[in-house]
Formats: sequence, structure tokens, C-alpha cells
Amino acid sequence: MRMIESGCSLADFAVRLDYQGIILGVDSASFLDDSRALVGETISSLIHPEDVNRIEKAMESALFLEKKQSFVCRLLRKGAPVWVDCHLAQLPDLSPPEFILIAFDVSHWQEDENRISHLATHDPLTDLPNRLLLNDRIKVGISAVQRHQQPGLALQLLDLDSFKKINDSLDHAGGDELIRAVAERLKTLVRETDTLARIGGDEFAFILNGISQEKEAEIVVKKILTAMQRPFRIQDKNIYISASIGTAIHPDHGNDPVSLFKHSETAMYSAKDLGGNCWRLYDKTINPETSDVSLESAMHEGIRNGEFLLHYQPIFCASSGKLKGAETLMRWENPERGTISPAIFIPIAESSGLIELLGRWALRMACHQAKQWQAEGHPDFYISVNVSPRQFRQEGLLESIKGALDESELAPSSLMLEITEGVLMSDPEMSGATLNELRSCGVKIAIDDFGTGYSSLAYLKKFPLSVLKIDKSFVDELPHRKEDVAIVSAVLSLAKGLGLSVVAEGVEVDEQFQFLASRGCDLIQGYLKGEPMNSASFQEKLRDAWL
Ligand code: C2E
Ligand code: CA
Ligand code: CA
Repeated sequence: MRMIESGCSLADFAVRLDYQGIILGVDSASFLDDSRALVGETISSLIHPEDVNRIEKAMESALFLEKKQSFVCRLLRKGAPVWVDCHLAQLPDLSPPEFILIAFDVSHWQEDENRISHLATHDPLTDLPNRLLLNDRIKVGISAVQRHQQPGLALQLLDLDSFKKINDSLDHAGGDELIRAVAERLKTLVRETDTLARIGGDEFAFILNGISQEKEAEIVVKKILTAMQRPFRIQDKNIYISASIGTAIHPDHGNDPVSLFKHSETAMYSAKDLGGNCWRLYDKTINPETSDVSLESAMHEGIRNGEFLLHYQPIFCASSGKLKGAETLMRWENPERGTISPAIFIPIAESSGLIELLGRWALRMACHQAKQWQAEGHPDFYISVNVSPRQFRQEGLLESIKGALDESELAPSSLMLEITEGVLMSDPEMSGATLNELRSCGVKIAIDDFGTGYSSLAYLKKFPLSVLKIDKSFVDELPHRKEDVAIVSAVLSLAKGLGLSVVAEGVEVDEQFQFLASRGCDLIQGYLKGEPMNSASFQEKLRDAWL
């Protein structure tokens, strides 16, 4: 059989198959490091059982559609399975039909992916889980309680007292050493099944599984407070330190990560108010704050009164500086409460179901607006709209998108939908089906907040995506923080391999911009080039500054 080339590199694996998937000839298989005679074997015996249906589907489609099919799967070899990028095509003019399958080793993608996910979920100084992973573990713990696998769960926040003063008495390295030493000591106090995370400069969090009573939480707290009182030996000095701890327990004090976190934080601040070096358990009397319920009813009224509006943040090409599109960001201007951040009202709209109404409205507004700006001399302008988790799972999503496009006469390819990584990965099979539907009507799809979830390579490759949006948290300390440089570089290389464009979010300073542009990031969004603004201001800039 002839050598098969792709670009300038030879395939790592290339075989000829009959229509039943039996190997007729082998061109290259050296990377399987396996001396099996492959001729006569079925191709599925070389593929990871979970991936076999991919090649079966590909053969079917190659045959009926008469088009080359691409997919990723795991090839089995003696050691671990290897991820490969496969291309399958039917050979011309043969009856019965035959196929050619070539594959390239892409295990480095997997390494990139593992690196990204570890860096994104751990604190670099202590290597403890960070806030993101903590949240995820809280969710897992809560669902274990709800399935009656454990009676409850306690979330404890610990903040070091007067850390700033102590930190000032040490140099920078000393401060870091102290935090590491505190982390090491705290680690010895939790069980394997619990989670200890670092969630801020001098802030730590514990998830204690299996705890539902105040007394049980108190036992652990006493151990922690006592352990903190032993001095730390840092740079030949004895450092004395204390901590304040706040605890909230599921199910008594909250049923979701956000309220549990908020309540343990309230309890922790109350411990600080008592002078520090002590513990408070959350109770409602600590802080009778505005409840979500009153905000929810204000939202209903706000919708009726037209208090919601859209702002637009420009997105520019990193190399040419040209305006490419805009992201729509919702705003709520309430006459009594002032401007309320979407970070606050979107989660409430999400849990109350109001998001379905707001989301439909935003889509319609955004499409009309984009059409208008295209007509005013920016024919290639695209508009990006956020789709919340509930909206994404909502039944009539496709219809409301088609409706908004029809009504505004905006071309589907000018509409981008932003869906967060976490939503897509929570049920990848269902997400894949929804994305394919959306894609088939011509709209484009961006993964939002990329890097903050745990994307699996196999799905990234399978989903019909156009854009990855790198989360602002990875851009903030570019180019100084080496972990962020590593993540952003890995994301850019991954995106390139998958043929996707990358938008960097939250670009605030020129140094970040220069770094991103030099590494081949396609698109830039952030205060440096333009803040979110109302439609009139955006229009004004379109007419002069961004022409
Ligand atoms: P997101 O989708 O990640 O949006 C980007 C956020 O970063 C926006 O915050 C934007 O104003 C902010 N931002 C952009 N550039 C910079 C920068 O250079 N520096 C800083 N510090 N911030 C920057 P915003 O508008 O507060 O929105 C917060 C979140 O609320 C959004 O995060 C999105 O998840 C959600 N959201 C906003 N509008 C909508 C909407 O219409 N529908 C849905 N479902 N969610 C929305
Ligand atoms: Ca977004
Ligand atoms: Ca984002």
C-alpha cells in the first residue's frame, strides 16, 4: 500500500479496511508498539470500547455521504490507550467498498488538557484546591446528602487574624512561606474524604462531609483553633497567629453552594467582629439581609417597568485592531436599588425561571441591534449573546432563536451564542445534541469562561464550536504569573489544533494585550479597548472611532 501523507507528517497509524471493518492492509502502525499481525483483525478490537461507536458511525457516514469523516478516539495499545485524531474515507471505485483510515497521535492534547485543568483548579502556592474546585466539591457533597448517602455537610471558612500586619513584618517570601506552613498544618486536620481549599490570600475553606450537627462541627473547629495557636517557625522567627472561623451546615443553612458559602462567610465575619480567634455558626439573626425572594419580586416588577436594558462590549481583532463584533451584557437599573450587577440578578432569574423571559428578550433585542449596525456600514459585524444554563436546557430555545433571527432578518452566521464550559460538560451527550441543532440553523457557538471547567478533549473535538473565550481570571496577571502564561499558552495551542478562534476576556492593560497578540490570540475584549456601553454610545463610536 502507498504511504499516506498528511501535510508534511506521516500518519502514526494507517490501515485499509473492508466494509465490515476488517483490516486488509497496514501501512504504518509502529506507534502501537505491538507486534500483533493486524491484517484480518477487526478495527474495533483496536479501539477503546467506549469509542467503538464513533468509528462505526464514521464508516456509515463515509459510505452514505461519500465524504471524509473525522473523529477522535482512543487506540488501544499494550500500555495505556492513546488518543488519536482519525480521518476515514472511502476508496474510490471499489465494490465491495473499502476504506482508508489514518490516525495521528494527539496524546499531547490530553496532556495540555490535564495541565490546564490542574492549574485551573489548584492554588499554585499551596497546591490546594482553589475556589472553583471547592464549589464543585460542595455541589457533589450536597447531592450526596440529597441522595441520603450522608446526613449533612459543613462548610467552614477560616480567615487568619491580622494577617496583613504579620505579612508586613516578613518579606514577600516569608509571607508565602507562612501561608504554605498554615496549609500544611491544616491538611493534617482533615480526613481523606474532606476538602481543604485555599480561596484567597489568607482565606481557607473546609468541606466536612457527613456532618449535620453543630456539636460535630465544633469538635473539628476546636482542633483547628488549637492547632493555629502553636507558633510557626518562619525565617528564624516564631510567628504567632490566630484565625476566625465561620460555619454553615447543609441542609439547615443552605441548599446550594452559593447560599452555603454566603452564610459561612457571614458567620466568619461575625467571628471577626467578636475580636477574632473564635468561631461562629451561622444563624439567621446574624445578618437579616435582603432576601432573594424580595429581589425576585422586584425583578418581576422591573420587567414590567422596562428597567432591564442591554449594554454592548466591543470585540476587536488582535492583529488588525478592527472591530469584529460585540458581546451583549444585561443591565438592571432599579430606581430604588440603583444598578444591580448581572452577577447578582442572573442567578436569581435562573432559579426562579425568569431567565427564560429575559433571555428571549435579550436575544430579540440583540439581533435587531446587530442588523441595524450591519446596515450602517459594518456588514460583517457579529453579536454575541449569553445563554444561561437553564435557557440552554429549555425546550423552546431553538424556536426563540429562529424567531429572533427571522424577525430581525439577521443572518444566523452573525449570531454567536455564549455557553459556559461548566454547562456543556455537566451533560456532554445532551449538550452535544442541542449544540448540533443550534449549529444546524447556522448560528455560531462560543464556550464562555473557558478554563474554569473541566473540558474533555473528546467533547471539545466533537462539539460544533467556533470560539473559546478565555476567562478573565487567566488574563488578569498576564504576563507575570507563570501559571497563567502556561494556561493561556496551552489553551491557544489546543484551540489551534481544533481549528477554533480564541477571544481573551478582561484585557485591561497593554502588557496583557501585547502578550496575547504575540501568542496568536485572535480576538480581544476588555476595558483596554472598550468597556460595555449602552446602545447610543456604541453607535457613536461605530460612526467615528471604530470605523
Ligand atoms: P461574562 O459572560 O463572563 O461577561 C464578561 C464580564 O466581564 C462582564 O461583566 C463584563 O462587563 C466584564 N468585563 C469585560 N471586560 C472587562 C475588563 O476588562 N475588566 C473587568 N474587570 N471586567 C470586564 P458583567 O456585565 O458584570 O456580567 C457578568 C456576568 O453576568 C457575565 O459574565 C454573564 O455570565 C452574566 N450575564 C450578563 N448578561 C447576561 C445575559 O444577557 N444573559 C445571561 N444569561 N447572562 C448574562
Ligand atoms: Ca459571556
Ligand atoms: Ca466570560
